[in-house]
Amino acid sequence: MRFPLSLYVSMTGYLLKNMLTGRKVFPLVLMLEPTHRCNLSCAGCGRIREYHDTLDHEMTLEDCLQAVDESGPPVVTITGGEPLLYSRVDELVRAVLARGKHIYFCTNGLLLEDNLHRFRPSSHFTWNVHFDGTETVHDEIIGRRGGFQRALAAVRAAKKRGFRVSTNTTVYRETDVDDLEALFAQLAAAGVDGILVAPGFSYVDLKGEIFLTRQEIMEKFRRIRHWSRRFPLISNPIYLDFLAGLLELDCTPWGNPTRNPRGWKSPCYLITDTHFDSYAEFMAQTDWDHYASGRDPRCEQCMVHCGYEPTIVRSMNGRNLFRMLRWNLYA
Ligand code: SF4
Ligand code: SF4
Repeated sequence: MRFPLSLYVSMTGYLLKNMLTGRKVFPLVLMLEPTHRCNLSCAGCGRIREYHDTLDHEMTLEDCLQAVDESGPPVVTITGGEPLLYSRVDELVRAVLARGKHIYFCTNGLLLEDNLHRFRPSSHFTWNVHFDGTETVHDEIIGRRGGFQRALAAVRAAKKRGFRVSTNTTVYRETDVDDLEALFAQLAAAGVDGILVAPGFSYVDLKGEIFLTRQEIMEKFRRIRHWSRRFPLISNPIYLDFLAGLLELDCTPWGNPTRNPRGWKSPCYLITDTHFDSYAEFMAQTDWDHYASGRDPRCEQCMVHCGYEPTIVRSMNGRNLFRMLRWNLYA
């Protein structure tokens, strides 16, 4: 299965609860960035550039858990930066799991193998390791020779210890789809449970040339979308149809709110207009209608999964639900 059954059960219960209470604007996944500190400086990373003057800051454990409790979604993505560099990372993971949440823990994989002993396998906990191409391509993007082999060794070690492991690949303008195909074959052979693939975007402190326009995204994803049966892709099939230009979707900017050491990042994972100190202010004062409408010029080329996958989940009908269930069984 691409996602654990328990995640489907938790998400369905959460959606029903919100539907029954008439709540329309609510998050599906919390993006928690306890620190932006990182041991790499990847070419396509907006985070370490946008937050360059606060890279060494970190959230307190209490603030992290308050963010989990206040926002309330069943899934927490712990990301950064490199979150293994967060000083209280094992306590954070234990406390979030104790709340019954599912965790996707994003890492570049370089520190993973040495840190596996600090964590325990669970159906609610998945390592999500970053790979942007086969060995030469990946090492060039992350600027570290040997990075690919180290991350792949960590994936194998994590699988051997019984962890769930998925991977995360960003597609840039220079990405060669043949190279991605070779990468995904390698990852599938290593036994990963899921492969997430999505176009990359950034609006801050990065030259735009490495990012794709909508037209370029569609061209690459017209091929990638056919790989769902060959590889355990966890970018859902309806989202892949959207990326291939086969259907239109509106963004759900409140679907994956981001909390980091500066506060609640508004409006979304990509754009930063401001940070709010409190979740209540963030939800009440962000102009959701404006961003959901796509009228903001910064949204023009955006097809990012944290904006559009929540739209698919929110508007799930019987036919799509059946398609998603079948897909989750890797059929
Ligand atoms: S590992 Fe992640 S956070 Fe660190 S520089 Fe690379 S993309 Fe950015
Ligand atoms: S379209 Fe993209 S940039 Fe615009 S609000 Fe949605 S996620 Fe953010």
